[in-house]
Amino acid sequence: MHRAWLIVFALGGVVATVAPSAHAAPRGSGAQPAEPTKPTAATSAKPAAPAPTKPAASTQAKPTAGAADAKAPGERPDDLVDVATVIRDAVIDMRYATADNFTGKELYPVARCKLRRAVVARLAKAAEALRAQDRRLVLWDCYRPTSIQQELWKRVPDPRYVANPKVGSKHGRGAAVDVALADSAGALVSLPTKFDDFSEAAHRDHALAGEVGAEARRLERALAEAGFKPLATEWWHFDAPDSANYALSDEPL
Ligand SMILES: [Zn+2]
Repeated sequence: MHRAWLIVFALGGVVATVAPSAHAAPRGSGAQPAEPTKPTAATSAKPAAPAPTKPAASTQAKPTAGAADAKAPGERPDDLVDVATVIRDAVIDMRYATADNFTGKELYPVARCKLRRAVVARLAKAAEALRAQDRRLVLWDCYRPTSIQQELWKRVPDPRYVANPKVGSKHGRGAAVDVALADSAGALVSLPTKFDDFSEAAHRDHALAGEVGAEARRLERALAEAGFKPLATEWWHFDAPDSANYALSDEPL
């Protein structure tokens, strides 16, 4: 199997961090008043309060050749944000980072769910509503870099299953999410089908019907209330209502 392209992404995703070194221990100070009955007390130091430290700023990587303009200071609604840093109880189960997907291949170099900042804010509202029902979001797929979409298309050039990269996918805009539900312990609840089941059983009119559809209905309700638009043929797929505002991207995961 040809995997050279994966290596490129693995390297592109590396971020160097340096832990700030510990500062000097508190200085021993002058003599304490003698306590005649407790001769050893003088050696016990006061509890050391951790000194505030500043992160080292010198490790920033150079922008790679061909990268677009530098990031503007501050937060922008179209920043691609790691969802796990916002929705801390989300279960990250990025299937394309494993072989457990319909291609049988690992396509993502890391299991990281990124979405546009404004889309994450929306998803966080849904997560909050679900939390009150003892449910956690399970994230199966989020932002998908364009080059990976191209690779997926090379493997499965069938528009029923994979968006043609020339057209692009809303995943490629960082504005679509494939999502399921877990209980408060993180175990999947009873769901209509597995991920990327491309049969009619995954269509909403089947998947959300009856008793087996109860959890998928719960999921759809929470995401729709947060403004997401459900895809008719995949009960797990939701688009942000403003997805057209975001460009296709090839920023690494
Ligand atoms: Zn999807």
